[in-house]
Amino acid sequence: MGGFWFTEKQTENFGITMKINKTLHTEKTDFQQLDMAETEEWGNMLFLDGMVMTSQKDEFVYHEMVAHVPLFTHPNPENVLVVGGGDGGVIREVLKHPSVKKATLVEIDGKVIEYSKKYLPEIAGDLENERVEVIVGDGFMHIAESKNEYDVIMVDSTEPVGPAVNLFTKGFYSGISNALKEDGIFVAQSDNPWFKADLIKQVMSDVKEIFPITRLYTANIPTYPSGLWAFTLGSKKHDPLKVAEERFHEIDTKYYTKELHNAAFALPKFVKDLTE
Ligand code: SAM
Repeated sequence: MGGFWFTEKQTENFGITMKINKTLHTEKTDFQQLDMAETEEWGNMLFLDGMVMTSQKDEFVYHEMVAHVPLFTHPNPENVLVVGGGDGGVIREVLKHPSVKKATLVEIDGKVIEYSKKYLPEIAGDLENERVEVIVGDGFMHIAESKNEYDVIMVDSTEPVGPAVNLFTKGFYSGISNALKEDGIFVAQSDNPWFKADLIKQVMSDVKEIFPITRLYTANIPTYPSGLWAFTLGSKKHDPLKVAEERFHEIDTKYYTKELHNAAFALPKFVKDLTE
C-alpha cells in the first residue's frame, strides 16, 4: 500500500489533495524547493516551492495552449523564445511548427531541466533537439539584452514569487516588446481568475499600455489552482481572432484545435470584467 496524501494550499483556506505513491527526488536548489513525485492519479509530477508545476497526465493542456495560440496567430514564426519552461513541455509543442528555425529556452534553474529529463522524459525529451538552444539563466536579463530578435515569446514561469517576481512587471513586458520583431507576439501564463483576479487585472492593464492587441484566453487545467487557467496575449500586429483558415496546418495535439483557438478567448462574465 504505502504512500501518503499531499495538499497544495492554493489559498489560505483551500487546497488540492492528492495521493503520493513515492517521492522520486527532493532538493533545495539555489532558487526553490524542487520535488518530483509519483502520484496515483496524475503520474509523475513536478512541484516547485510546494506548487504543482506539471504532471504526466494533464501537462498537454497547458503546453499546447501556451504554444499553439501565438504560433498559429503569427503568419510565419521562425525565431521563438521560451522564458522559464524548464520541464521542456512548451519547447516540445513549439517544435511541431515546421516554420520554427530556432527555439531558445532560458530557464534560471538547471536542476529543473535535469530532473525533468530524468523523470518526465515525454515532456522534456525535445530539449536536445538541434533547433533548440537551452540557456540556464535569468529570463529577465535575457529579455533586457534582446532587441528586435523574436517572432514569438512565451513566458512559462512560476508564480510571481522568488525568481519569477520580475516576470510580472510592466518593465518586463516593455522589455518583451523590445525583444520582439515589429510584428511579434507574446503570451504569458497569468494564473487563475478565482484566486488571482488582481494579478490578472494588473497584467492586462500593463500589457494593454504596451501592445495594441491584448487579449486573455483560458484553458481547463485540473491540477492547477481552481482548474481555470488564464493566459495573456500581447501582439504588435496580428490578432489571434483573425487567423486565416489556411493558416491552421495539421498538428498532433490532445487539447488544442483550431475551433478551440477562438473559443478559448470567449470568457465567462466575471473573467471578462477583469480585462476591462
Ligand atoms: N506551467 C507552470 C506554471 O504555469 O506555473 C510553470 C512551469 S515551469 C517549470 C516554471 C519555470 O520558471 C521554473 O522551472 C522556474 O525555475 C522558472 N523561472 C522562474 N523565474 C525565472 C526567471 N527569472 N528566469 C528564467 N526562468 C525562471
